Amino acid sequence: MSLSPKASNINSPVISSPVLDSPLLGQSLESLTTWVQDRGQPAYRGRQLHQWLYQKGARSLPEITVFPQAWRQEMAQVNIGRSTLHYRAIAPDGTIKYLLQLQDGEILETVGIPTAKRLTVCVSSQVGCAMGCDFCATGKGGFVRHLQSHEIVDQVLTVQNDFGRRVSHIVFMGMGEPLLNLDSVLKSLHCLNKDVGIGQRQMTVSTVGIAKRIRQFAKAQLQITLAVSLHASNQALREKLIPSALRYALPQLMDECREYVKLTGRRITFEYILLGGVNDLPQHAVELAHLLRGFQNHVNLIPYNPISEVDYQRPNSQRIQQFQEILTKHHIAVSVRYSRGLEADAACGQLRASRA
Ligand code: SAH
Ligand code: SF4
Repeated sequence: MSLSPKASNINSPVISSPVLDSPLLGQSLESLTTWVQDRGQPAYRGRQLHQWLYQKGARSLPEITVFPQAWRQEMAQVNIGRSTLHYRAIAPDGTIKYLLQLQDGEILETVGIPTAKRLTVCVSSQVGCAMGCDFCATGKGGFVRHLQSHEIVDQVLTVQNDFGRRVSHIVFMGMGEPLLNLDSVLKSLHCLNKDVGIGQRQMTVSTVGIAKRIRQFAKAQLQITLAVSLHASNQALREKLIPSALRYALPQLMDECREYVKLTGRRITFEYILLGGVNDLPQHAVELAHLLRGFQNHVNLIPYNPISEVDYQRPNSQRIQQFQEILTKHHIAVSVRYSRGLEADAACGQLRASRA
């Protein structure tokens, strides 16, 4: 696993602007208004810019036809901060996986998951991931770099533009560990809510658990759902699956989760990947129920999606049902996430920055 940032620059014209170095994407209405005024334009152009960036998905200033022609050309080199499409694959269930190339040439993965009523985007928070979970393709590939907030917002706009309909839900379940990139994640959540117009209640941030960061996330006092990737009902088992559990033990994680509930008054969703013969036995379900005593629980079971690097097994439906029933008997609300997009390698845990 590589922990050092990779400086790849394949086909990457870093669009440097003589006018502005930080991209426009990610900026609020107020700062966009100041930006246009600083360039001699009236304040209402700030609102127009905001609308074209976040609602119409403009990729460059010359596209903004409501702006005066001469100014559009003058501002042609301004860096909006959009990625370029590197690869796109559609699964038979309509799920679309995108590989997006960032301005420094790095590639990330994002997934659009449509249903009749919803369009969910599964966003990445980092290129790669340093956590090295044994069952996860992203973890196997190692860490490359954090994403900036506009690179997270860009993923949502890309999916919105491609589907031609509004994104309704966002889950931070793509590449990376969001709580290791908390500043950018919080900034992007704010922008997605205030500028793109997606309700906080429609957003979920998933974490494997990072010491002190769940508390920090709680202090932001958001209406966003926190999902904690538990995956094991005891410390010994968790350590085998998630290397960071050695340093941040299960009792500490559960204490911090209790603190989160106290600070926010919100429920936590606990995610539990089901690995056949490893953590899916009846005794694990009973142990999990005991571990979660005192929480107003919701457990999301995720049958393992195969990746090439390891040979875990996806449990059969009887095993899944049995696990579910034991939790239900212990008064735990359970859902099973039958992942979408398996055929496009776009399902949970299968994300990696390649077409493989
Ligand atoms: N790093 C964060 C968010 C990204 S992973 C986290 O771990 O929570 C998003 C979800 O996909 C996590 O619950 C993760 O455990 C799950 N996942 C990873 N690999 C998987 C696999 N091979 N099959 C099914 N789910 C997987
Ligand atoms: Fe990182 Fe989450 Fe994958 Fe673990 S499961 S390696 S934390 S992306």
